[in-house]
Amino acid sequence: MNKTFDLITIGGGSGGLAVAETAAQLGRKVAVVEAHKMGGTCVNNGCVPKKIMWYAANLAHAVDDAEGFGIPATRGRTDWKRLVEGRETYIRNINRYWDNYVDDLGIAHIQGHARFIDNRTIKVNGERYHAEHIVIATGGHPMVPPVPGAELGITSDGFFALDEPPGRVAIIGGGYIGVELAGMLQALGSEVSLIALEDRVLERFDPMISRVLMNEMTKQGIRLHLNFPVKALVKERQGIRLESTAGEALADFDCVIWAVGRAPNTRYLGLKEAGVRTEANGMVPTDEYQNTNVPGIYAIGDITGRSPLTPVAIAAGRKLAARLFDGQVDARIDHDNIPSVVFAHPPVATVGLTQEEAEQRHPRVRVYQTEFTPMRHALSNHGMTTAMKLVCAGEKEQVVGIHLIGDNVDEMLQGFAVAVKMGATKADFDRTIAIHPVSSEELVTLKAGKPASLQDKNGDREWRKAG
Ligand SMILES: Cc1cc2nc3c(=O)[nH]c(=O)nc-3n(C[C@H](O)[C@H](O)[C@H](O)COP(=O)(O)OP(=O)(O)OC[C@H]3O[C@@H](n4cnc5c(N)ncnc54)[C@H](O)[C@@H]3O)c2cc1C
Repeated sequence: MNKTFDLITIGGGSGGLAVAETAAQLGRKVAVVEAHKMGGTCVNNGCVPKKIMWYAANLAHAVDDAEGFGIPATRGRTDWKRLVEGRETYIRNINRYWDNYVDDLGIAHIQGHARFIDNRTIKVNGERYHAEHIVIATGGHPMVPPVPGAELGITSDGFFALDEPPGRVAIIGGGYIGVELAGMLQALGSEVSLIALEDRVLERFDPMISRVLMNEMTKQGIRLHLNFPVKALVKERQGIRLESTAGEALADFDCVIWAVGRAPNTRYLGLKEAGVRTEANGMVPTDEYQNTNVPGIYAIGDITGRSPLTPVAIAAGRKLAARLFDGQVDARIDHDNIPSVVFAHPPVATVGLTQEEAEQRHPRVRVYQTEFTPMRHALSNHGMTTAMKLVCAGEKEQVVGIHLIGDNVDEMLQGFAVAVKMGATKADFDRTIAIHPVSSEELVTLKAGKPASLQDKNGDREWRKAG
């Protein structure tokens, strides 16, 4: 193999594959170095296996609700083995797709761990490879804090490696991965406790989201232990015990899952040899064009510490290749108004500013919100709440934030995010004729005035309107 390329990407995950694909399509000579499996975190230990488990959990909820609609259905024990085998086959197919696609595009696939030798050279399995442009797209790994007994816990990677369902589970972390795992495991038959340092889950989200989600999690039987800084894990005969810094303890867990954040994969990468600067937490800072401090070395995706989401890594990779090889000198991503979903039960979808952020930035903010039980739950005994909030700013009431929690909001937000990106106002929303009867019609029919607490709290909105 000729070992000189136009572009080498270190990491064959969402970002690395995107930059490699676009550069190859533009006729460049490209190599992808991947230490593990093609597809990276999203395909192997993130979005994809997570969404499969989430679908399984949704089906479990649907079976519970079926009887109310006159559909006979009884739920037995989850066939975990079958679920996991199906999931892994699906993932293997994606890995295979990427292996073939990379070959078809003429991209060199170098299997192994890359390390910089200098700013134009990397070493993999003892071989040296050179490129004018090198992209760091090495992503991250789950963090485990240095507390006594930490090794008794697993991480999200360990969750995807479980070959049988855990019985009594403690999930440590109230961020998006923690609440997602909690919802899935509880629905699939585990007894779940969620332990968080903060006084609410999803602390970075609008408080309405945290409140509704905590209420729904509690209704599902998930035990929430907030303000619980874990000091140690202790192995006992009956299971694992968690101790807090305040002297509290929670005991008898079969499985403990750390979901306390992710750390960048920069160790053993030789960034010093290449002269690439890192932040104290190991992230690789870049400017808005993905340039690091070293010309010819770029960073994209989770390693940059900004918006750690698959579509962000992909968009950054494509823009970078377009800038380097297609003369699109100003190609870069815009980090404003990136929509995202938390696959909790019920799911959460959000774009733009929270109410608090809007109030800090704009002198005039108006909020429209509603809370109701959607028609999907009209005949079930386990009605999940849907809540929606529009945050509008300025004289023209530009919609600067949308915060949703409830059934199907994961599929609802993408189109509304386009409207927010285009600068839509509340009047634009009002001018749009609603679709009926669906939950999303609420977003174009929201009225100001009533305090949130009086708005259709248990009012079955779509249902009532239909009548
Ligand atoms: C449990 C979980 C659920 C998630 N769910 C979602 C979701 O629903 N939606 C969403 O948008 N995002 C989700 N994410 C985040 C998403 O997976 C990441 O944002 C995305 O994968 C980042 O892509 P990346 O290219 O930066 O890194 P990665 O996809 O992590 O790829 C990095 C690759 O680099 C390789 N590598 C590392 N070091 C080296 C080296 N020295 N040499 C060679 N190869 C190396 C790794 O093996 C890895 O394959 C989730 C993440 C997790 C953990």
